[in-house]
Amino acid sequence: MFENLSDRLGGVFDRLTKQGALSEDDVTAAMREVRVALLEADVSLPVARSFVKSVTAKATGAAVTKSVSPGQQVVKIVHDELIRVLQGDDAPEALRIDNPPAPILMVGLQGSGKTTTTAKLALRLKDREKKRVLMASLDTNRPAAMEQLAILGQQIGVDTLPIVPGQTAPQIAQRAKTQASLGGYDVVLLDTAGRLHIDETLMSEVQQVRDIAQPRETILVVDGLTGQDAVNVATEFDGKVGISGVVLTRMDGDGRGGAALSMRAITGKPIRFVGLGEKMDALETFDAQRVAGRILG
Ligand code: GDP
Repeated sequence: MFENLSDRLGGVFDRLTKQGALSEDDVTAAMREVRVALLEADVSLPVARSFVKSVTAKATGAAVTKSVSPGQQVVKIVHDELIRVLQGDDAPEALRIDNPPAPILMVGLQGSGKTTTTAKLALRLKDREKKRVLMASLDTNRPAAMEQLAILGQQIGVDTLPIVPGQTAPQIAQRAKTQASLGGYDVVLLDTAGRLHIDETLMSEVQQVRDIAQPRETILVVDGLTGQDAVNVATEFDGKVGISGVVLTRMDGDGRGGAALSMRAITGKPIRFVGLGEKMDALETFDAQRVAGRILG
């Protein structure tokens, strides 16, 4: 995912660390290159700007430039700043799934990987957290999507709400909640309908479902390959329905990584998980430290 960015930054920092003594101008010139590398990775302009500004302010002081290994100190400052931009100032918190049954609303555009991610998350909650999970598809426009979730449920050994043709999404949400209470489930994952574009119909349906489900978490699934678009989608969903976290899918692909770097800073919402493939176990907790490590090679 971060190969290009990683290569670019690697080149800049190799030169910087080999150089020995550093002047403020050296640091400023290196940071100019970092800014270009971030923009080429599709990081949003305000995020790239503020990143470089913050690193430059910390790295041009005498404590760094006159130190024994100034290049390495600059790399350390960049590393810490990457972690800050990836996760904000707060340590990541656990999903709020106490008080069973906890409804989790899964939202996103069609094709983002929403249904796959719903099942991946269900499997994770079942296996790692020993939760009893119920999944329900609310995609009344696409019977195939409902079938897909049922098939995935069978594969991973997680129950899905039986399909009742003719029900509306809010009706299914209500039925899922009731079934989750009666059946003693810990978590109920609601896979809402996706559309190719954000439109009023999609948003008003998700709002109705949200009002009925009263979700503990509303997780937006977005395609990590789409860079700044992913961040725009998150901003829109957050404005219209309110999201509590994000899953970036297709992080196994050769996208440029901008979505991961801009998401928190622009939306204020944490990236919870990353999708790393089509298989059911290809979902990883988002770990800013590890991602920063990957970016810096
Ligand atoms: P939905 O329309 O948003 O529900 O999307 P789906 O869950 O049906 O996923 C669309 C396609 O993307 C499927 O072929 C998935 O296997 C694939 N997919 C989902 N997540 C990932 C991921 O993290 N990596 C890769 N490589 N493919 C994924």
